[in-house]
Amino acid sequence: MPDIGKFRALVVDRGADKKQFVEVRELTLDDLMEGDVVVRVSHSTVNYKDGLAITGKLPVVRRFPMIPGIDLVGEVVSSESPAFNSGDTVILNGWGVGEGHYGAYAEYARVKADWLILKPKEIPAADTMAIGTAGYTAMLSVMALEHHGITPKSGPVVVTGAAGGVGSVAVSLLKKLGFDVIAVTGRAAEADYLKGLGAAEIVDREELVNPAKLLDKERWAAAIDTVGSNVLANVIAMTKAEGVVAACGNAGGMGLSTSVAPFILRGVSLIGINSVYQPRAAREEAWSRLVRDLDRDKLEAMMTTIGFDQICETAEKIVDGQVRGRVVVEIG
Ligand code: NDP
Repeated sequence: MPDIGKFRALVVDRGADKKQFVEVRELTLDDLMEGDVVVRVSHSTVNYKDGLAITGKLPVVRRFPMIPGIDLVGEVVSSESPAFNSGDTVILNGWGVGEGHYGAYAEYARVKADWLILKPKEIPAADTMAIGTAGYTAMLSVMALEHHGITPKSGPVVVTGAAGGVGSVAVSLLKKLGFDVIAVTGRAAEADYLKGLGAAEIVDREELVNPAKLLDKERWAAAIDTVGSNVLANVIAMTKAEGVVAACGNAGGMGLSTSVAPFILRGVSLIGINSVYQPRAAREEAWSRLVRDLDRDKLEAMMTTIGFDQICETAEKIVDGQVRGRVVVEIG
């Protein structure tokens, strides 16, 4: 193990008054939690969940103090696991890292080998974080639609929260796979951006925010929903017979007020997507599909790079729905 000394970490903690605060601390490897692999983190990202952790808007942090950051890429500096060697470049998405186990917003992380996958060599480290949990979840959602029989011949696919991270990657992936993509956004100014990623039609989010009817006009064969609440209820009510809806997000709220009508009268299927605890085989499949099916120029178009010092302001923006596409954080 090289002599690492002190390194900086962004820490979320609570004061005696139980109020949450965030500060940069100098740590050593002894301060990190248990794990069999130490990684020098080169890049991370800011997902919606990271925004929740830093702002405290929802209780995603399960232990204080906590280093947030649910995604990382970096180089292995030491490994007690035969699965990884010093010098390997690895990716971590989820597994409760940044929620219950110290996460990515530090120059070093000590994690379990079971949580890591090798970085696909075709893709640069920064680009893996431009994808991050958001892009990986978009891929899992597309794979779920395919698994349930949806093909480009089934009809158009709608993506909600389209200008966000999951949404932007989902639009790009679906277009590349030959689907007609309908993008739902609350930001009319992002229409050209979404068309650039591959959306054929833009729908104003306002059309979907009121309580849903039992059944509504059939508009799409499938959906990837990142928003939840009334938007998801309307998406379900507007899905064609035998259509499939993949629900992966709650950017508009946790609630879901719907009826059984779309399920029993149209045979619509509602599928949940949970990226956090996917087994290794599913992760590796999703990542190899991302390498194959995500246009690198589209990824560049949706990606912004920030420094460590801009994580907190970006966290505030993402919970306000003000981040477009994906953010890469340069850590090391
Ligand atoms: P982003 O903030 O990047 O995207 C969310 C988008 O939702 C926004 O850009 C905005 O899109 C729309 N939106 C924001 N606020 C509202 C609102 N109040 N009502 C309706 N729409 C809104 O977040 P991510 O893409 O990183 O994550 C999206 C969701 O997916 C989050 O809820 C996140 O927790 C969830 N998620 C779930 C995962 C899983 O494993 N199931 C993994 C990853 C993410 P626009 O302006 O275009 O309307």
